[in-house]
Amino acid sequence: MRMILGRARLAGAAAVLLAAVAVAPAASPPGRATPAAAARTASATTADARFELASRTDPGRPMRWLACKPIEYRINPTDMPAGLEPTVRHAMSVLQRQTGVRFRYAGHTRHTFTSTTHAATPTVYIAFTSRRRAAGQTFGGPGGEIGVGGPAGSWAVSGGRTTEAITYGRVLLSSRFRGPATGGGASWQALILHEVGHALNLAHRGGARTIMHPVLSGATPAQYTPAEVHALRKVLQTSRCDYAAWSRL
Ligand SMILES: [Zn+2]
Repeated sequence: MRMILGRARLAGAAAVLLAAVAVAPAASPPGRATPAAAARTASATTADARFELASRTDPGRPMRWLACKPIEYRINPTDMPAGLEPTVRHAMSVLQRQTGVRFRYAGHTRHTFTSTTHAATPTVYIAFTSRRRAAGQTFGGPGGEIGVGGPAGSWAVSGGRTTEAITYGRVLLSSRFRGPATGGGASWQALILHEVGHALNLAHRGGARTIMHPVLSGATPAQYTPAEVHALRKVLQTSRCDYAAWSRL
């Protein structure tokens, strides 16, 4: 997500979206799921793409979270601006209220944006950086990035059946960002909702008056639009909630 500093006006160009994806090998031994072993960076997603990760079994659909249990989220406090934790939790409560899906705060973590491990439950990891360059981004300054987020999904073939799910999501926020904590516009709340939207498997979509617009501005709302809530519910719903299979991803 790109922040235009100075006057709040729209920028025409879409920011480059980075989504790092952990994938399981396509070919697994029969009858045994193979854990995610390789990491690759997904190609940049076009601004009008609806999802970052498509289902492998049904390419027209998004890869989904297992939403039959609460999704957890954890905060890495390293480089987090003082007093921002309540803002993160507030933003996640907005997400929970709008989607009807429970997001449970599970405490602090040392998980960083580049970590490829994940907890035993689906988790969104939220981290901060004070560095100017991190995770392939240039943070701060006019036109600089202010955050990046993306989902990590895995799949495994076992007994002829493909199991796939988003195993975790991660967000990296620039502590160089300056803005009001809550509300709409160029706020921390809007920034967190945008990057968590990526972590949940939403790509850039919609105009300036949407959360998932790639540029934060005075037009950015304080919550997801109805269309964005619809898209979030698509990636948060699943027809089969197989935690036993998920645990092998
Ligand atoms: Zn973005």
